Amino acid sequence: MLSILKLDAGGIPQCWINAEEATKQYADQSVLWTLGDPIAVMRGGISRATGKQSIIELHSIVAVKGSARINLFDVVPGITKRKLYRRDRGLCAYCGERITENDAEAEHIIPNSRGGKYTWMNLVVSCRPCNQRKGNRTPEMANMSLLYAPYMPSLYEDMILKGRNILADQMDFLAANLPKNSRLLEGLFWEQS
Ligand SMILES: [Zn+2]
Repeated sequence: MLSILKLDAGGIPQCWINAEEATKQYADQSVLWTLGDPIAVMRGGISRATGKQSIIELHSIVAVKGSARINLFDVVPGITKRKLYRRDRGLCAYCGERITENDAEAEHIIPNSRGGKYTWMNLVVSCRPCNQRKGNRTPEMANMSLLYAPYMPSLYEDMILKGRNILADQMDFLAANLPKNSRLLEGLFWEQS
C-alpha cells in the first residue's frame, strides 16, 4: 500500500498518509509543495462545466498548509513493539541473534517489578530464551550485558520506524536529517523484504 509522507508548511514531517487522504489534501488545495516523483494518478469526477475528468497526481512527499499545533520535536515518540524491533534492527540485545518480529520480546532492562519503565531508554528487543534467562533481574544481576545501547528515536528516525514500504526519495529526505551516528543509517534497508 502506498504511503505518502506528509510535512507541515515548514517541511517538518507530520505523519504517513494513504492515497485517499493525500487526494483529499490536493482536492482541498491545501498542498503547498511537493517533493519526489508522482507515484500515482487519482481520477476524480467529470466537471460539468468543462466536461473533463479531474486528475490528481500524487507525489511521494507533500507539504500541507499550516504548521503543527504542537512541536513534534518536543514529543516523545510513542513506543510500539514493531518500532522497537526496527530500532534494534531485529537483533537480540543479549545474544545478538537475529530474531523475527513475531519472536521478538520487548525486554525491560530494569525489570518492571524493580521500577523499570516502559520507555525507549529501558527497552530493548530480545529473544525469548534470553528474556526468560534474565527473568526478574537487572543485566548486572543476571551477568548478561547489552550488546547495544537503547536510545530515543528522533522525530525523523521515528518516521522511518513507523513507515511501511518507504520509497527511496522519502528515505533520502528523512535520512538527510538523521544524526550522523544514527543506527538506522547503518542498515536502513536490512529488513526490506
Ligand atoms: Zn538472545
